[in-house]
Order: sequence, then C-alpha cells, then structure tokens
Amino acid sequence: MRLSPGLAIKKSSINGKGCFATAYFPRGKKIAEYAGERITNAEAERRAHRRRVLRICAIDSRWSLDGSRGGNGTHYINHSCEPNGYMKILYGHIQFYALRDILPGEEITIDYEYTLHSDKKRCYCGAKTCRGTINKR
Ligand SMILES: [Zn+2]
Repeated sequence: MRLSPGLAIKKSSINGKGCFATAYFPRGKKIAEYAGERITNAEAERRAHRRRVLRICAIDSRWSLDGSRGGNGTHYINHSCEPNGYMKILYGHIQFYALRDILPGEEITIDYEYTLHSDKKRCYCGAKTCRGTINKR
C-alpha cells in the first residue's frame, strides 16, 4: 500500500487499525484524497454484505470507491462522533480536511454520518458526545 504523505496506519483504540497523522495538519488544511477502486453503488452494497469492516466511500448516487483495493491509507480513517477531520466531495473527488489542528501522532477521524452498515451498528468512539451508533438517525 502506498500511503499518502503525512499518514501512518497503526492500531486504533476506536476500532481495529486507524489512520494517524505523522505530520502537523493545521485547521482547514487538506489531509489527503480518498483513493480506491471505482465501483457502482450496487457493487458497493454487494461487498458490504460480505464484509464486517467496510473500506468503501460513496462519491455520489451512482459511484463509490473501495479503498481496500488501491487505497492510500485514508480508507483506515475511523468514525468518531467528535472528529478532528471532515470529508468533502467535489467533482467526483473525496477529500479529507482538518476540522481543527491535528498534531503528529493523533488518530485522524471523521463523522461518517451515513454508511452501508445497519443503523443499529454500535459506535465505540469513546467521545463524551457519542451518539451510540455509527449512522446518524
Ligand atoms: Zn461515537
């Protein structure tokens, strides 16, 4: 796997492996672009049924990217109800930005809001404001 600059994959206290900063990302700075295999959303749903851990990110109503093939580390970004990053989709590109200053060594997280997981899937992000589930309801 070719990691995007400034990122490392390490064991996470939130869930499995996570994506960590090795560089300083000041608030508002772009962290990286999501990379992966381009698949239809129908294929994304098929894959979601077979996997416990999802590395799939939707681009629009038709297309998704599966970071488990050709990903650059951003596919390990875990969900948190109190994230330090956010995602922006622009012209078919999925970009991650720093929501606040992120120091080297910190795990990068975003609020997934909606996923292909069941609405019942529990969240273990550990934030005080944790809503209890990954999906927003
Ligand atoms: Zn949570």
